[in-house]
Amino acid sequence: MNDTLEIISEAVEVSKSYSSRLGFQTGSTKKGLVQAVDRASLYIAAGESVGLVGESGCGKSTLGRLLLRLETPTDGDILFQGEDITRIKGRRLRRKRRQMQMIFQDPASSLNPRFTVENTLTEAITAHKKNLRGRALKAHIAALLNMVGLPVSSLDRNPHQFSGGEKQRIAIARSLAVEPKFIIADEPVTALDLASQEQILSLLESVQRELKVAFLFIVHDMKTVRRMCNRTAVMYLGRIVECAPTDLLFKTPKHPYTNALMLSQLSKNPDLRENLHLLPGEPPSPLDPPTGCHFHPRCPYTDMRCKTLVPQPRPVGENHWVRCHYDFEGNQKSAPKGIDAPDLVPEKKPPKRSKLKKK
Ligand code: SF4
Repeated sequence: MNDTLEIISEAVEVSKSYSSRLGFQTGSTKKGLVQAVDRASLYIAAGESVGLVGESGCGKSTLGRLLLRLETPTDGDILFQGEDITRIKGRRLRRKRRQMQMIFQDPASSLNPRFTVENTLTEAITAHKKNLRGRALKAHIAALLNMVGLPVSSLDRNPHQFSGGEKQRIAIARSLAVEPKFIIADEPVTALDLASQEQILSLLESVQRELKVAFLFIVHDMKTVRRMCNRTAVMYLGRIVECAPTDLLFKTPKHPYTNALMLSQLSKNPDLRENLHLLPGEPPSPLDPPTGCHFHPRCPYTDMRCKTLVPQPRPVGENHWVRCHYDFEGNQKSAPKGIDAPDLVPEKKPPKRSKLKKK
């Protein structure tokens, strides 16, 4: 990591497990632990846009919620502007949270249906600037509407009177009302039609450019990260398996899973584009993750080492690291230079049950 960077938000070796009571959500009757996030480390610097990609259910949204401290990690630390916020509570946590915002996939469910746009924005602004009233408040609201491209005539309308794209604009205006340092956009355009998707992405680009807010984009779509993000992290079954500057990741992906994602989503062949059927097998259940490298049942390069030893993050270029035991040249794999068995640790034991949050 560059020492001169101003780090806004950071997860350090963060894990999150749930007791098996969550099994009903995965459709499984199995008892055990759901390891939603497994020793994930990720930082987002001031003014930076970072992408977090992976198949649904891989733990991206959980990691996002951990960064905002909407959840408490089972293990590891969450830092915000260099301060450890892992275990703070109450008013101190609320004060921190105001500087971090989230834009959700479904804007309709994130807006209060009984609130007009004016109510929504007034509530958000006055939570941040308690003394702002009258003309100054109205001017602030008008500036926010202008920034997100909504007319002032929207003020006394309720969410149901807007299209999906307009609702997302209101949600963005609300998140900007508190002048945040960090915004997580969790699938911000997935629920929108194509035209609205383009408009909202352009809006988020201009917000990022003008306000220099740090963004984490949680998406399943490689095209969105290519457009929006300086750096991209790839997640598979709770672990971040590769992280690199986005250009570099697209030019020289190092992890077989990153390669498969690129191939499935960016291929011109529509049969390959929308799914991961290039990979043998289904994504494994987080209730019963594979030993060693979680990707080993689907990886074409699997061997005994992959099945038994957990790959650790290792650098493969400037600001580029990967969690795989091997390097690849075409279809040929080889052991990386200078990395040998001592750097590879056996599967860690699951966390103690006492540390698990039951839901
Ligand atoms: Fe594939 Fe082995 Fe690398 Fe995992 S560690 S991605 S199974 S080659």
